[in-house]
Amino acid sequence: MRLFFALWPDAPTQQAWSETLAPYLAPLGGRRIPARNLHLTLAFLGEVRGDRMNELLRLGGDLDTPAFTLRFDRIEYWKKAGLACLRAGDTPPSLARLGGQLATGLQLAGFPVETRAFKPHVTLLRNVAVPTPSLPVWPVLEWPVPALALVRSRTDPDGSEYAVLHEWPLR
Ligand code: ATP
Ligand code: MG
Repeated sequence: MRLFFALWPDAPTQQAWSETLAPYLAPLGGRRIPARNLHLTLAFLGEVRGDRMNELLRLGGDLDTPAFTLRFDRIEYWKKAGLACLRAGDTPPSLARLGGQLATGLQLAGFPVETRAFKPHVTLLRNVAVPTPSLPVWPVLEWPVPALALVRSRTDPDGSEYAVLHEWPLR
């Protein structure tokens, strides 16, 4: 199965972001990510054998991350990827630490890890048609992050389908 660690908003939060951001996104064209799919990826694992699940569950449980709040304050257009995403100007130290600990834990356990720098973002649009400079989001979207999640991804003909397999509340 295809797995990744993420920060996963509850359904009302996903819906609120989707509605609040619609007017910012409409002029950019492209394909909207459905509200139920909005998330922030921490570490992408790719295909993982089912018998490695226990290792991932142990790793997630070992992290013990203090709770933090994300303040999303802008939408960025990423030209190379052709996407638009929600970004926070400041990365809370807890989030940076969580990303680092996950990467280290995964590497030590022999999972392939991302070599690019961790740039926390929530993808909102793909195949953006109208390039745009960074758009300030006002009022800022504040999100007290409740938990770390392990998520399974499936691709079907009409897009990605995600299922949260396990959640670890932040401390
Ligand atoms: P699709 O690939 O079918 O268009 P998707 O990208 O939403 O859909 P996945 O490829 O399963 O679904 O990716 C799950 C999450 O991991 C997404 O947030 C995606 O942006 C991220 N991701 C995918 N591949 C990588 C990668 N190589 N490095 C970092 N993050 C990745
Ligand atoms: Mg993908």
